[in-house]
This record gives sequence, C-alpha cells and structure tokens, in this order.
Amino acid sequence: MWRKRDVAGKVDVPNPAKVEDGTVAHYLVDLAIKVGTAVGTDTLTPSARSERMGRIRNRDTGPEMRVRRLAHGMGYRYRLYRADLPGKPDLVFPSRRKIIFVHGCFWHRHPDAGCTLARLPKSRLDFWRPKLEGNRARDLENQKKLIENGWRVLVVWECELRDAGRLERTLRGFLDDES
Ligand SMILES: [Zn+2]
Repeated sequence: MWRKRDVAGKVDVPNPAKVEDGTVAHYLVDLAIKVGTAVGTDTLTPSARSERMGRIRNRDTGPEMRVRRLAHGMGYRYRLYRADLPGKPDLVFPSRRKIIFVHGCFWHRHPDAGCTLARLPKSRLDFWRPKLEGNRARDLENQKKLIENGWRVLVVWECELRDAGRLERTLRGFLDDES
C-alpha cells in the first residue's frame, strides 16, 4: 500500500528542464515505479497525472530518435507522425506501404515475459493495469486497421534497441521485403 509519508521529501526530483530530451520519460517511469505513483507528488488526480505523463511521453523520445537515425543512416526515407493514419505511426514509408512503431515497453505493455522494462509497478495496480492494458488494446486495434488498409507494420520495442546489429537486420529485412 502506497503511503504519502513513504515518499514525501525523500525523492530528489531534478528539474525536468535540465534533463536531456529523451531521458525524461525514462526517468519518470523509473521514478513512478520506485514510489508507486507519478512524479513525486500526490497532489494530482489519476487523470491529471495521466495527462501530464502523456504530454511527456508524446515528445520525440530517445527510442524513436534512435530508430529514425538508424533507418536514415541505412538510406531509408520516411515520414513522421502521419496524423491521418491510425495510431499516428512513428515512421511511415509511403512508397513501400510500410509503417514502424517504436514502443516503450512499459507504456505499451511489451508482451514478452522476459522483458524487464514491461513489468508492472508493485503498487497502485488498480491505476496502472487498466491504463497500460488500454494502451496495448488500442495499439492492436490501430495495427489491425492499418493492415486492413494494406499497410505492413513493424513494432520495434524499446528493449530491442540494445542490440543494434540485430535491430539493423530486422529493419532491413522488414523494409526490403517485397513479398
Ligand atoms: Zn521490452
């Protein structure tokens, strides 16, 4: 059970403005897991907290930038944030009719039992579980719509970025496949 006095005054929250872009979201997720709530304050309602974290999450995050740089360096050209497509895909390759989503394992519930990043927090499960599983359900729904519209979809999970060589092979295999 989460108690206010467990965290009040004990969590050193750096000024987010001083944290490099791309590290903020991870920091907040780590912190949220550590203290069982969001961002070291208990003054937010779950919906306000969720909205605040959503704003942070939707910026150009580290994992997305890394996949973009890698794809670009491999010579592939893509478009960003096609707002007219379901789920606003991170990378869109219109001529290949292919789409890549880069998903944070925590926020999007990476369905891999071995993924340590996707573990649910130990407390406030009543808040986190429906929220994160809702994200996952929405992702699957968006992917289904895209596939029905003739797109092919690859999801790159955050934990897969650790092995750059393997990721490069995955991207090339997906983007070059004309079958
Ligand atoms: Zn993962």
